[in-house]
Amino acid sequence: MTLTPVLTRYWDEPRSWTLETYHRHDGYRALRVALATDPDTVIDTVKLSGLRGRGGAGFPTGTKWSFIPQDSSGTGAGGKPHYLVVNADESEPGTCKDMPLMLATPHALVEGVVIAAYAIRARHAFVYVRGEVVPVLRRLQAAVAEAYDAGYLGRDILGSGFDLDVVVHAGAGAYICGEETALLDSLEGRRGQPRLRPPFPAVAGLYASPTVVNNVESIASVPPIVLHGPDWFRSMGGERSPGFTLYSLSGHVTRPGQYEAPLGVTLRELLGYAGGVRAGHRLKFWTPGGSSTPIFTEQHLDVPLDYEGVAGAGSMLGTKALQIFDDTTCVVRAVLRWTQFYAHESCGKCTPCREGTYWLVQVMERMEAGQGTAADLETLLDIADGIAGKSFCALGDAAASPINSSLKYFRDEYLAHFLHGGCPFDPARSALTA
Ligand code: NAD
Ligand code: SF4
Repeated sequence: MTLTPVLTRYWDEPRSWTLETYHRHDGYRALRVALATDPDTVIDTVKLSGLRGRGGAGFPTGTKWSFIPQDSSGTGAGGKPHYLVVNADESEPGTCKDMPLMLATPHALVEGVVIAAYAIRARHAFVYVRGEVVPVLRRLQAAVAEAYDAGYLGRDILGSGFDLDVVVHAGAGAYICGEETALLDSLEGRRGQPRLRPPFPAVAGLYASPTVVNNVESIASVPPIVLHGPDWFRSMGGERSPGFTLYSLSGHVTRPGQYEAPLGVTLRELLGYAGGVRAGHRLKFWTPGGSSTPIFTEQHLDVPLDYEGVAGAGSMLGTKALQIFDDTTCVVRAVLRWTQFYAHESCGKCTPCREGTYWLVQVMERMEAGQGTAADLETLLDIADGIAGKSFCALGDAAASPINSSLKYFRDEYLAHFLHGGCPFDPARSALTA
């Protein structure tokens, strides 16, 4: 499969982030096309394209938009306004596609925001950006200011009669605020904790009004779809997972970075573009979509990286964050690090996750230190079972996933830790690895 640079096609141009550069690359042409038609037609176009949400779950974007009450006044049942919220709180370990996209081409996102807001009849849009990434925040704010000056935002956009205001909001550094309902609570000024769903945000979201929450990459993919049409988009990828997408390769790979390819490309093919695993080493394990997705090994190199292919092989496509670990990596240490992350980021709202992630860390720490026992392996599986599917939001499932999958493929490595009294990969214990 060849690479298909659409979103990334001019990332390496000097000052790629300016409006002037964006105009040279068809910038805001799709907006003119959208505004010349009616909002329902825009929704139909996105529906026909088959675009699926790029935040991790893969929910069909056009379908999500169509859940918003469709009346021409822009206010739903009870006269409530509609809102568009862009989830730019990218925090999943290994996930690093939305931040470079906003740095390199913030106008691709801004144009997508105006089109999406027009389609769902929203007059206000919010972009919730991960607060720690200040350069991204500044770049996006600058792009929004440029778009206001050029008449792409504000009153009567391009003489269409459509009004839209965009607020760029900085989060305060909690992973849970990437969960869409916690994000909405945070945006409303409260402590970010997940809400019970249903109702989904499409019914009762921001300020209890109909709200579409979409990921950055999903929204940035809309202008090219509107400009070139759904058939063009569907000419890439597969029937149920169409289009192009960003795959983020990180870790022990020769040329880490963003690789834009049709859905269904394999890791073997992507490694071909990325120069392979670093010289002198072999692939040991990898994540198909960030640390929340069950890990894969060398045997999964030819799994099609689309929603169906990855699910069929026992994992999830998630954020397409491919973290590559070679034969020098201790899987127990890697899983311990992820587990510490989930315990730290657990919002504490529900008992299985709050208590379970704490206990997972306790057991994993003694396992990694070589002080565990064979019975601890069953304890880990038991705690993970008490979290997965029994927690309030997806963070609980995510915490259980690396435990379960690493024990499935690397049980012997866990055993080696307590048989040898420590990590067999620790140079201080190199005699033990012989
Ligand atoms: P989900 O499948 O519950 O929902 C996905 C989207 O579809 C949501 O916007 C939801 O509102 C909507 N939806 C689902 N069913 C609906 C219905 N019946 N009516 C209306 N809308 C409906 O998934 P989720 O819990 O929102 O997200 C989990 C995913 O998040 C994981 O797959 C993980 O990969 C990803 N994730 C991403 C990051 C990141 O940094 N991008 C971080 C952590 C997790
Ligand atoms: Fe909070 Fe974890 Fe429960 Fe989610 S699963 S609500 S993060 S405690």
